[in-house]
Amino acid sequence: MTRAFEGGKLVVASHNPGKVREIADLLAPFGIETVSAGDLGLDEPEETGDTFRANAELKALAAAKAANLPALADDSGLCVNALGGAPGIYSARWAGPNKDFVFAMEKLRRGMLEAGLIDTSAWFICGLALAWPDGHVEYFEGRVDGELTWPPRGEKGFGYDPVFIPQGFDTTFGEMEPQAKHDMSHRAHAFRQLVDACFTR
Ligand code: IMP
Repeated sequence: MTRAFEGGKLVVASHNPGKVREIADLLAPFGIETVSAGDLGLDEPEETGDTFRANAELKALAAAKAANLPALADDSGLCVNALGGAPGIYSARWAGPNKDFVFAMEKLRRGMLEAGLIDTSAWFICGLALAWPDGHVEYFEGRVDGELTWPPRGEKGFGYDPVFIPQGFDTTFGEMEPQAKHDMSHRAHAFRQLVDACFTR
């Protein structure tokens, strides 16, 4: 049976200030008080899983056990059909230690050129894990499908947003107003499932 979040403080198991802010904003309407793993001085576990689910769960469980509070973690990335689903769980790592997404997008373009640039279909995945100190975990996954385009367009988003056009649109995520992206993104889909299952009772 799905376990509901009973209130109190929730740890956002991330050391990325942008992600922590986005998650806190998404949870604010439910009156949920959040504290970040970074603020609690918790260690950042190594992402040793080979799926979004495994990585989201290991991050959420590590934070929940260390803080003795429920914890929420997100693991996300871009999957490209012509590259067999890469970069996938390695999306952040493709940008290197300097988080250089111009470099990562160029690496994508080169890979697709080698694959013949025939199939440009791609999708973003967001895995969300809510874990409790006793080891119980709930997991939800959201997906948004689209096409890749070059050259990159728009500066409103982050990561791979400038090369991704969601299905049914002709603008990239980088060109969209943040609210428009947040209404339809992989993260929005995953959050809707989480909220429906765990936060509305
Ligand atoms: P994580 O912190 O390991 O989950 O890394 C997620 C990575 O996936 C980010 O660094 C971005 O490269 C990419 N990513 C995930 N969601 C998005 C998005 O909405 N737009 C652009 N890039 C994204």
